[in-house]
Amino acid sequence: MEEPFFNIESLYRLPWTMPDNGITWLEPTAQCNLNCYGCYRKNIKNSHKPLEEVKHELDFFQKMRKTDCISIAGGDPLLYPDIIELVADIKRRGLKPIINTNGIALTKEFLHNLKEAGVFGFTFHIDSKQGRGREKEWLGKNEIELNELRLHYAEMLAAEGGIACSFNSTVYEDTLHYVPELVKWAQQHIDIVHTMVFILFRYITPDTPYNFFAGDRQVSFDDIHYHSDRQEVTDLMAPDVVQVIREEYPDFMPAAYLNGTYRPDHYKWLLTERIGTKKKIFGYAGKRFLELVMTSYHYVKDRYISYASPKALGMGRTTLFSTWAFDTGIRKALKNYLKFIAVNPFRLFRKVHIQSIMIIQPVDLMPNGDQSMCDGCPDITYWKDDKGREQLVWSCRLEEPMKYGDFLRMVPKNEVELKHEQEKELVK
Ligand code: SF4
Repeated sequence: MEEPFFNIESLYRLPWTMPDNGITWLEPTAQCNLNCYGCYRKNIKNSHKPLEEVKHELDFFQKMRKTDCISIAGGDPLLYPDIIELVADIKRRGLKPIINTNGIALTKEFLHNLKEAGVFGFTFHIDSKQGRGREKEWLGKNEIELNELRLHYAEMLAAEGGIACSFNSTVYEDTLHYVPELVKWAQQHIDIVHTMVFILFRYITPDTPYNFFAGDRQVSFDDIHYHSDRQEVTDLMAPDVVQVIREEYPDFMPAAYLNGTYRPDHYKWLLTERIGTKKKIFGYAGKRFLELVMTSYHYVKDRYISYASPKALGMGRTTLFSTWAFDTGIRKALKNYLKFIAVNPFRLFRKVHIQSIMIIQPVDLMPNGDQSMCDGCPDITYWKDDKGREQLVWSCRLEEPMKYGDFLRMVPKNEVELKHEQEKELVK
């Protein structure tokens, strides 16, 4: 991998922390209508939580943390029988309900009812390793072919109107090369696709150099939910994705990030904001723009923004003219825009949009067994242990406390062997 052309100096560190964040993660059910490879959660039938229990989790979140939106996930939250009431409850609390779904259960009528209840946005997880076996027409389709399915959902939301539309894809070594095409597709639909999220695949593989412990009890590799029985690449990094995107968009420039808990120079959430039309990207917002947006929103609302409304994202031209003085990225974009309209002044009537591209790099394993998580994790969720103690935990590793009562520790294998040898020597 080449040295990235961006670094912590050129980026804005998103101000999200444990008690003050843009997002919080809620799981009303663990039941899903797919069994995606790469999913961090076990699919459990009839695992819907009583609505009162879910509301209690929301109370707990609000006691522990300021948040702008609630990502309703699972499982697939559209299978949750009380989803309409849950969305309405989140809205009543003054928070933005975002539904994270594979989309299968969504109908026009269901969408309309969710909109009436106050849904703010949808994040559709669509990628080629989901095994969409029930939907025969999508089985075996590659990432590019799945754009038709993505477009179906984006148009469905656009027809209902006023709902933020995002897409998540897990990125594997053999699907990395599709990312530039997806970014291009997102530009072609910049008016109705507001965010693209690329999540780097993380599992443990048979060549793992670690032993795993829950407390002092060793846990076998194949007992761990997120293990793969075959060797595969599980350490793609965010700059790898940026590098392939720049093959299609040479000016592509991230603006903000969240660092790793053990590696401040890792880009765990790497955010790019681009401004343009379906045909032309004028430029990329820089770090000052993100700082301006985050701090002014916090000043007014007392919390950090995560999802922006489709209306705000459709105000690209206003953004260019009102914020150029604060940010070099916006200044460059404005210059390009002015050149664009100088050629044909009627272009002034074309709508200019803002679109987000997020790259998420989940847990990184350090040589000594430390696990570098996203510092200021936005997808933190609720967990209650068997003694009734409640806490906020990483949703990407929820299976561990649920199954073992705690997060797993990792100990490098060599050290364990060394320790055993030393102990044998002592006994002699
Ligand atoms: S730590 Fe895990 S749950 Fe939190 S943001 Fe990172 S990947 Fe998501």
